[in-house]
Parts: sequence; structure tokens; C-alpha cells
Amino acid sequence: MRLILLGPPGSGKGTQAQRLVQRYGIVQLSTGEMLRAAVAAETPVGLKAKDLMANGQLVPDDVVVGIISDRIDQPDAAKGFVLDGFPRTVPQAEALDALLKKKHLKLDAVVELRVNESALLQRVETRVAEMQARGEEVRVDDTPEVLIKRLAAYRSQTEPLIHYYSERRKLATVDGMMTIEQVTREVNRILSAVGALEPKAAPARKARGATRKTARPAGKKAAKAAKNTRKTVKTTSRGPRKAVKTAGRKAAVAARGRGTAKAKKAFKRTAPKAAKKVTKKRAKR
Ligand code: AMP
Repeated sequence: MRLILLGPPGSGKGTQAQRLVQRYGIVQLSTGEMLRAAVAAETPVGLKAKDLMANGQLVPDDVVVGIISDRIDQPDAAKGFVLDGFPRTVPQAEALDALLKKKHLKLDAVVELRVNESALLQRVETRVAEMQARGEEVRVDDTPEVLIKRLAAYRSQTEPLIHYYSERRKLATVDGMMTIEQVTREVNRILSAVGALEPKAAPARKARGATRKTARPAGKKAAKAAKNTRKTVKTTSRGPRKAVKTAGRKAAVAARGRGTAKAKKAFKRTAPKAAKKVTKKRAKR
């Protein structure tokens, strides 16, 4: 699974990325974290990035693209990754497309966490207070003054990515103002709808008396509904939640081979005939 979490600072990308890591065993690739580590280690990249980061400005594209390209090649990223804070500009997105293509990797989805800007300042203040309470070092750019600059950078340089990925039918938008739990559920639903999750081995259901005739429509229907689900996410640029929900539910019901009126009717029609055939055969023997 490979996905991008897109959203302004304080939108909950880090929190959701952590949850995806725990649930799916993929790695979180946060350019902000990597750059902070580079600054702390005083590497050449860190020295380049330090002042820009402290001022809420973006680090040059080639620097972050280089970091990400190397990181994707690490063995722990083979199972998949969630990009948090990258890409942040259109040239970064183009560079990512090119390097994924080169590495023969596919991007499953881009999930935008949409939030109310007025809530962001409050969120960052809460994050700072929590970090202080845990005795952790507070980020130098987590101040109201720098946050305003980071938001401006998001608006001018990162927001165009919404259009970029929407055009490429990769974008799904989630209301980031919901609770953490609700956002997680929504993200999982999107990932499942785009087929980013490994299909879980379904326990074999024994359809009592079901003939091939009854099983087929459900199978066809499942395939069709699943196809539609994928289409819905791909073609919906914003807020695909409802459509995904409905199509996903249809697919789930159809896949379980029950629930559709057509399938039930077919079952009623064919099951007695099948039963009669078996009785006749047994009588002959
Ligand atoms: P974050 O932790 O994602 O909020 O990032 C903190 C800071 O690191 C940002 O304000 C930028 O200065 C820098 N940074 C992180 N990711 C990128 C990126 N993809 N492109 C440019 N600068 C970045």
C-alpha cells in the first residue's frame, strides 16, 4: 500500500499516518521528521534546512526529493508507505511520479484531510501543551507566528496538489474536523474502496441448496459493484464518502452472495428444481 496524506499543518496527518503504520505494517515517511533529524545531526542537509524550517519556509525541492528517493529504496519500505508532508509542491509531485515509475511502484491514493483553518492554531497549541506535559522538546516552528507562515506556504505551494491529484483521479477528501476515530475509519474505507488493502481470505460459505445458477448472479454483481466502487473514488474529486459508502456496501453484500432480490428470487426458483433432480436420480439408483 502506498499513499499520500495531504493537509495543512495540524490537520492530523501524523496521527493518521501512525495509525496506518500500526494497522498495516507499512512505514511512515515524514520529510519533516527526517529533516528535523538531519538538523539535529548537523548533516549538510540539516544545515541547509535549519533556518528555512525555523521560518516556516519550504526546503528546496531537490533536497526533499533526494531524501524520499533514498528512503523508498530501504527494505522496510517494500511493504508500503504513507507519505506525510511530501510532496508539498507540484515539482515534488512530478518528481515523485517519475521516481515511482522508475521503481515500478504504484501510488494507491492521495487522501486530503480537509480542516477549518481557524481550528488549526488551537490544535497546534494543544499539541505544544501535550508535548510539554510529556517533557518532550517543542518544535521551534510550533509557534503562532511561524504557523501563520507555514499555513501561507501550504496555501500557495501545496494546495495546488489537490487539483494535481484530482486530475489524475487519485484524490479522496476526508473531513479532518471529525474525531480521530472517525477520520481513521474514513481513511480505511477509502483504502479498501480503491483496492489498496490485501484482500482478507473470506471463510468459505456453504450455500445450502444453492445451484450454480444462484451463485453466478451474486458473483457477477460483486465484481461489478467492486468495479464501480473503484470508479467512484477515482472519478470523484472531492467528498466521495457517500458514494464510496453505498457502492462499498453493495459490493460487500453481493460478495457475500446474499441480499440481492434477484439472487434470492433465482434461489427460490432453482433450488426446488435442483432438489427434485437429486431425488429422481436417487430413486433411479
Ligand atoms: P512538517 O513536520 O511536515 O510540518 O515539516 C516541518 C518543516 O520541514 C516544514 O515547515 C518545511 O520547512 C520542512 N519540510 C518538510 N517537508 C517538506 C517538503 N516536502 N518540502 C519542503 N519542505 C519540507
